[in-house]
Amino acid sequence: MESLQNMFNKLAEIYGRVPEVSCRACGRCCISPHISVIEFCYALVPLRENQAELERVVSLVVADHPDFPGQRTCRFQTADNLCSVHSHRPLACRLHGHPVLKEMGQEYDVHCNKTESLGRQLTPRDVYTLLDAVNDLNRRCYDHYAEPYWVNGFTPEVWLTIAVTPSPRPLFAKLREIIGEACPLDVLSASFTQTVALEEKLTLIEEFHRRVASGRTESIGELLNRIQNDFPDTGTYYYFEAEMYRKELQKRGISL
Ligand code: SF4
Ligand code: SF4
Repeated sequence: MESLQNMFNKLAEIYGRVPEVSCRACGRCCISPHISVIEFCYALVPLRENQAELERVVSLVVADHPDFPGQRTCRFQTADNLCSVHSHRPLACRLHGHPVLKEMGQEYDVHCNKTESLGRQLTPRDVYTLLDAVNDLNRRCYDHYAEPYWVNGFTPEVWLTIAVTPSPRPLFAKLREIIGEACPLDVLSASFTQTVALEEKLTLIEEFHRRVASGRTESIGELLNRIQNDFPDTGTYYYFEAEMYRKELQKRGISL
């Protein structure tokens, strides 16, 4: 694997392509963001140099976001609505306040009308190009689409859960290793309170694949609905992939 520092340099270059907006730091858009593993590792850089802040962030028990039921407030947000990893914040956060998100619709459902762009206006094509560039970088680190675990965007809650929980699943053990290389979080495991149902979601995904493989497709639509909708606080992980499976099963004439 390419060195993390090289990955960080490339990520910084990608982030540098996003024009700044005149954010008022009201904090409303600081919902636990959907981010890739390299972005999570990069966000840890300012914290690994500030042990007290790292411990504060890891030991927080994050509340639901007051305006977005089912979603958590971002644990990187400080008490005065600022961002403790601002210089290293993920792409999702850099896109907040850009009018293009409104144009792109429901998938990007947090719109901010309080900002002005301080550079050129982004287009949907720009956003997809940025997302592709970040995804390409992540693909160099781990097997992004190793069925049954298709891992793309998780929330910081999930990445922390992975970072502090040893896993018998090789992909998750690998992700833990990558995060550990960026910042040894497992030493703080005792102060972290896990609240997202990652294990439950993984169990459902495994059950889904078992059923498809064995042809037991009764109630499979319900299972897919649960995987897609019951875990909004885990991030985009498996949402779009589940949609793809739904279409594939429908093509095969399986009633969902
Ligand atoms: S981008 Fe908008 S919603 Fe988000 S903190 Fe800035 S002003 Fe508030
Ligand atoms: S990483 Fe920073 S900017 Fe992004 S949601 Fe969290 S607190 Fe807000």
